[in-house]
Amino acid sequence: MKKLVATVICMILGGCMSIYSQNLPINIAHRGACAYLPEHTLPAKALAYGMEADFIEQDVVLTKDNHALVIHDIHLDTVTDVANRFPGRARDDGRYYALDFTLAEIKTLKACERFEPASGTAVFAGRFPVWKSDFRLHTLQEEIELIQGLNKSTGKNIGIYPEIKDPAWHLEQGRDISKIVLQILEEYGYKTAQDNIYLQCFDFAELKRIKNELKCELKLIQLIEEDCDVAEVASYAVGIGPWIKQIITGLDKEGTPVISDLVARAHQHKLMVHPYTFRADALPEGVCTELLLDTLFNKIGVDGIFSDFPDVSRKFIRNQVKKP
Ligand code: CA
Repeated sequence: MKKLVATVICMILGGCMSIYSQNLPINIAHRGACAYLPEHTLPAKALAYGMEADFIEQDVVLTKDNHALVIHDIHLDTVTDVANRFPGRARDDGRYYALDFTLAEIKTLKACERFEPASGTAVFAGRFPVWKSDFRLHTLQEEIELIQGLNKSTGKNIGIYPEIKDPAWHLEQGRDISKIVLQILEEYGYKTAQDNIYLQCFDFAELKRIKNELKCELKLIQLIEEDCDVAEVASYAVGIGPWIKQIITGLDKEGTPVISDLVARAHQHKLMVHPYTFRADALPEGVCTELLLDTLFNKIGVDGIFSDFPDVSRKFIRNQVKKP
């Protein structure tokens, strides 16, 4: 009987149980499997799912008609053909803002591998060729439906990891992006700390507001670019997302990574640490994939990683992370 109950509980908790029961770090597909397909396209998300990411990331900005669009920048011109399709719709700074276009207009754009808008050259030379094949941008709802649909058809339980982009800028433009995103998440069943989601944001004040004013119960991750008061962050978030360079600050004379005390301080305050970003094709100087992942997971003990290469990080976590 006990065994039966345990089996049923395992079935209910699904993939979530298997991840956390082993205490393994989580593998977060950064913008999807963006090392292989254009970032934040549905094919890149489906590939990340197939590569066994535990969580798939969504960056979210608003369109003119208040749709939640999955895209990394508030601008459209680094990953679409907007400049050719809508000349004259740039702001004075020469940039094309998602907020100035309706979803219907954005849906007509071709999406592609990230490029430098001034020169048109690819940001990552070795990745998917710019302008090839046919990709489109999509909404947060469409992506959640893809992931939840795959969860149904495969029987797995892969989580989502949305980021609210530039909330202060959105507010200056008269939009409350957090409220819109939280409402969508709730509609799709992401409401409590038990749900398979982390919600991330760089804006300290906004993440606090999400917790305290908007009464959000989801697990919140404070993204950081500089050192922060971890005790303060622990009052509203469950973890931090630092830059890898904040954790591994360089190499000593022997080529051994120099480690900051950030992760230790965060762990003292029971904060998880999910650093960004593992890029096998853009590693810190003098560091190979093996050394970087071994240092992060086995020497420092980070709790997850944002990875452009979710297949490489999956393999390392499965085979080379030392179990606690
Ligand atoms: Ca992000």
